[in-house]
Amino acid sequence: MTNRLRIKLDRTLCDGFGICARHAPEYFSLDDWGYAVLVGDGDIPEPDRDAVQRALMDCPVHAIMELTERRPDDAHIAEVSEPDLEHLKVGDNEAEWGFTR
Ligand code: SF4
Repeated sequence: MTNRLRIKLDRTLCDGFGICARHAPEYFSLDDWGYAVLVGDGDIPEPDRDAVQRALMDCPVHAIMELTERRPDDAHIAEVSEPDLEHLKVGDNEAEWGFTR
């Protein structure tokens, strides 16, 4: 599993609180009006990951988004079980399960 973090900043959402620039000034600067600007291409190396993650989580308008890709081999795929056909709710047994139309 990769620990690579990629982020994106949606400047149309930014309200200029400046929290991100306080947490991770290497990756967020503020323009003349106090709105955030992403510094760099959004690739965050492991040593800076916590600070940027903190900025992401503390942004009050969720303007910072994580783009980290999840590969299929990382994903947990839940096993699909057979449906319980004996207790399936259908029109024929609706009196048992109390559905009213
Ligand atoms: S924390 Fe969010 S709202 Fe505040 S400056 Fe950064 S991106 Fe903009």
